[in-house]
Amino acid sequence: MPERELADVVVVGSGMGGATFAAGLASSGAKILILERGAHLVDRPDLRDARAIFQRGVFRPDEQWLDGEGKPFNPGNYYYVGGNSKLYGAVLLRYRAQDFAPIAHLGGTTPGWPYPYAELEPWYGEAERLYQARGALGEDATEPPHSQPYPHPPIPDEPAIAVARERMKRVGLHPFSLPLGVDVERWLQRAPTPWDAFPDAGHGKMDAESGGLASALRFSNVELRTSARVERLLVAPDGKRIDGVEVLHDGVRKPIHAKLVALAAGAVNTAALLLRSSEAGVANRSGAVGRHFMNHNATAVLAVDPRTINDSVYQKTLGINDFYLSDGAGGPPLGNIQLLGRITAPILKSSLAWAPEAALGALSRRTVDWYAMSEDLPNPESRVSVDGAQIRLDWKRSNWETHLRLVAALKARLKAAGYPIVLTKPFDRRTPSHQCGTVRIGLDPARAPLDPFGRAFDHPNLFVVDASILPTSAAVNPSLTIAAHALRAADHVASNDLQG
Ligand SMILES: Cc1cc2nc3c(=O)[nH]c(=O)nc-3n(C[C@H](O)[C@H](O)[C@H](O)COP(=O)(O)OP(=O)(O)OC[C@H]3O[C@@H](n4cnc5c(N)ncnc54)[C@H](O)[C@@H]3O)c2cc1C
Repeated sequence: MPERELADVVVVGSGMGGATFAAGLASSGAKILILERGAHLVDRPDLRDARAIFQRGVFRPDEQWLDGEGKPFNPGNYYYVGGNSKLYGAVLLRYRAQDFAPIAHLGGTTPGWPYPYAELEPWYGEAERLYQARGALGEDATEPPHSQPYPHPPIPDEPAIAVARERMKRVGLHPFSLPLGVDVERWLQRAPTPWDAFPDAGHGKMDAESGGLASALRFSNVELRTSARVERLLVAPDGKRIDGVEVLHDGVRKPIHAKLVALAAGAVNTAALLLRSSEAGVANRSGAVGRHFMNHNATAVLAVDPRTINDSVYQKTLGINDFYLSDGAGGPPLGNIQLLGRITAPILKSSLAWAPEAALGALSRRTVDWYAMSEDLPNPESRVSVDGAQIRLDWKRSNWETHLRLVAALKARLKAAGYPIVLTKPFDRRTPSHQCGTVRIGLDPARAPLDPFGRAFDHPNLFVVDASILPTSAAVNPSLTIAAHALRAADHVASNDLQG
């Protein structure tokens, strides 16, 4: 008879949430097994080939989800060791302190968090150290209190971006240095490309693999198993405890038993796993599992000035929060603005297939590329559901008028700053980059599946530690908040569940 496999803690997924949780728990000595459905992203020339990445989509998954109308689409959701962070832009922003309380938006009021900013502040600091954040305090009036400075100074603007910063200042805005988790010299040594949406196989991005996972795997009690796809949770006959998981590893299906299970498969797959694991969905007394899916309203805003050349390579060093807490005239909040990674001709061509690349090159050399991002509000009808193995993602965008106002405000300032042409393109639903909210934390078991530490109200030995837990999307990139919450959850588990 094959031996029964037992771990103290099984972590499902090695992305931002799972890897950081494992890092936080590693020194406890508990036997931690990380199950990751993907493989390591290995170094190869097309990691830095914009045509391969954006035109041919070679790193995208071989997977189709259905949208709300039942139409299939290929999601930009990445299955590698390190998860979506392998392609991320490495912006490591904290939520603002105000994001933890209810906020009235044009499209509705957010529910707030079950705990205040001060509760997460020390863990934000830990996460900034783990991911070696490069940033500066004192440039952004919306920056929440930090008990410690950023561990490293900010990445410098390239000369063309220093000029863009000054132009934005001249029209009354307050650009700040975006906090970033990239060793830019190492990144550029491998090839002179941007990093946002480019996969990294260990050349300078501080992602879940090089940050959280590397820290966890320094401990001999932590094991990573790749090509190990968790298919369902095993619920004990008493219906209370989770016995473990059923995993498909290199084509072989087997149970793995665990004293505690932490789910971190990403906001869509974690919800799908819970929904697939029993008829009513595991941890689903509230009926909220899979609901409240959020994904930021986002638009690429291309500022063209035919008289100036943008010869920058990576570009992504500025943020603007002048419209974050209000529209600038006492009205409701609009959102965050930040630079995109440099949009080159091959990247433009992926959206404008008919245009000659030479013409797109001439355009992109005269363009500075911005990203406008507004809060998506939690709506129970915006949801993930499953039909067997098939995932259906019915994202109902909310608060769209807010986003239109943010884009209009940015456009007006760019024109005033001397960019006569401003082009815009909203990101569509095939890009669930900032997916979150599907298994949220809360105080009331009738409205949320998880308590404020991410422990399932229905199952004391089940945690969720990825983007699913976020009760609000705010209007900042999610990774640092996912990491901070995962470290807080790990500390809680180490003190309460692994003693004795
Ligand atoms: C192009 C791009 C740019 C981005 N830029 C930024 C940025 O600049 N800043 C920022 O904060 N965020 C950014 N994000 C978002 C960020 O990457 C995610 O918010 C973050 O990675 C989510 O963490 P997670 O733990 O929830 O999920 P993930 O990091 O996606 O991890 C989920 C993991 O679970 C694995 N998995 C899934 N299902 C199973 C299963 N059944 N069994 C086992 N393993 C499974 C997956 O393979 C994956 O490794 C970006 C995302 C993309 C795609």
